[in-house]
Formats: sequence, structure tokens, C-alpha cells
Amino acid sequence: MSSIIYKPRKESMKLIKKGKPNDIKIGILMPIPYNAAINSLFFQTAYEYINDLEGVIAYRYVYNIRDDVLEALDAEININNLDAILISMSFELDYIYVARILDKINLLHRHKGFKKPILVAGGIAVTANPLPLADIVDVVVIGEVDEILRDMIYVVGDNEPLKYLETFNCVSISPFKDKAKRCFVKDLNRALHAVKQFFPLNEEPVYGYGIRVEVSRGCPYLCAFCMEGHIQYPFRYRDMEIVWKIIEKGLESYMSKRVIFYSLAFFSIPYIDRFLNKLIEHSIEASIPSLRVDQVTKERLNVIKKLGQKTINASS
Ligand code: SF4
Repeated sequence: MSSIIYKPRKESMKLIKKGKPNDIKIGILMPIPYNAAINSLFFQTAYEYINDLEGVIAYRYVYNIRDDVLEALDAEININNLDAILISMSFELDYIYVARILDKINLLHRHKGFKKPILVAGGIAVTANPLPLADIVDVVVIGEVDEILRDMIYVVGDNEPLKYLETFNCVSISPFKDKAKRCFVKDLNRALHAVKQFFPLNEEPVYGYGIRVEVSRGCPYLCAFCMEGHIQYPFRYRDMEIVWKIIEKGLESYMSKRVIFYSLAFFSIPYIDRFLNKLIEHSIEASIPSLRVDQVTKERLNVIKKLGQKTINASS
């Protein structure tokens, strides 16, 4: 079997952008299967945001772990013709998958050097420890990409992208010896968020149908063992009005009235109880993320039940 196949899905909200021959071509690669990848707000947001940029076109790729094959979702183009591939890695295990994928398509940094496509990795695991990727990818982003994504995309379209990439504070170039500073969005209201979220019509996504909504980043508890809480420090949340706008806009084009919330510390958001009642008033169902046991109350359990959730995940 070929190491890369074109496998478009029957999707709603798929963006059809024809593009021009000279457009900057960006791949977005998730080293996980399609059904899991569509839950990633990076995947959703980068696809929408990059395709909205003038003179740029984005192509999505997912990894079918079982068949060990990379699946192109948007077009049957030569992956070597891309200007850059953005690779999102949340877990250390993803490093192995990414190494395997890039080796199979002959794009490992160790062999191709800094030739295009420029391989840009980011995510929680990458921010915590980029060093194992030194022979695998060209560039890593330390922290959150929101505020540099636009400039980074136009820079990789240049003939000498590295010259410019090394000027970004939170970008590090292989072998990642320089001290990059972690980027993070101070005001989460200004962070990127997908509203036109694509979803498959004939295979139910993990977590089910519904728009994915990031309400907060970071966690105020900062448990010593928890990497995510520290990597995403400090705890920030979007204003209630902004979250409501994302939901209204997102549900306009979605086939079900359901919201899947992403948050490390959902009930630490001051307005969240009021907000959940507002969803009930509007007959919107919701999926609530993992809860801290000390924040579970009888009233909240009743609200969660009314929102249509059947099971909860709680930890101390
Ligand atoms: S409460 Fe949970 S998410 Fe927050 S720091 Fe502790 S383990 Fe991490």
C-alpha cells in the first residue's frame, strides 16, 4: 500500500477553496486517525483561519494508525510541493507516529535538511520537550501559536523562510539549542477559535456530534504532577458573551444543537453556572469536560443531566 493516499470524507462545512498556482500551500497534519483528529480545535481553527487568509490554501492530513498510512483529506497533490506542514502533537507517543510518517514519505528533517516543505511542530508535548524532535522536524513553536500564526504562514511562503522564522521569540530551529520564549495569549478573547467546524456525515466523531468550544486555557490548581496545567499557565477564560457568540455562530451551520466544552477547570470559570442555565433555556445540549470532585454539587449534577449528558468523569 502507498504511504500516502487521498481519502476525502463526506463532510459538512468542508471549505472549498480553489486557490491559485502561486498561493502559499500549507499542510496541517494530525498524527492521529480522522475520527479523533476532528476533535482537535487546532485542526479546526488552523484549517478555517489559514483558508481565510489571502493567497494561502490549507490541506488537511490525518494518520490512519491501523493501516500505517497518511490520508490526504482535501486534494491529491504532491506533498513535496507544500511550503510548510504544521504538525500538532499533544502527547509524547505522537513523536513516534510523526517520525514513522515522515520517514515513509521521505521528509524526515535528518534527510531533507531545511528544504521545503518546512516542518513546523507544536502542541503541549512539543512545548514541554522538543529535543527528541531534533532529527525529525525543522522548527518547533513553544507555547500557543495564535498570535504568530498569520506572520508565520506568510514567512514560510518566502524563499528563505528560516531567516525570518528565527526572529520569532517562541520559534526554535532544529536542533533546538536556542532559548525560545513561550508564547501565550494574555487575553483569551483575542485567541483564534473555529466557528465553521467541519464534521463527517457518515461516521460519528469521538465525543459525538456538536461544536467544540474552548472556554478556558490553563488551570488555577497547578497540581505538581500535571504537565498541561503548567504548560498552559496562567489560567484564562473567555468572556461569557464571546463564548455565546462562538456557540451561536457555530450552531448556525451545525446539524445538532449540541456543544462540547473544552476546559481544564470548567467550574472555576466564575460565570459558568449561569451560562449552563442559559444553554438549557435555549434547548442546547452540552458535554461537560472532566470535573474536580470538590466542585461537584447536587445542583450541578442536575444541570448536567438536563444538558443531556449521561456520564461524568471526575477526579480529585
Ligand atoms: S486540577 Fe486537573 S487540570 Fe488542573 S492542574 Fe490539577 S490535574 Fe491538571
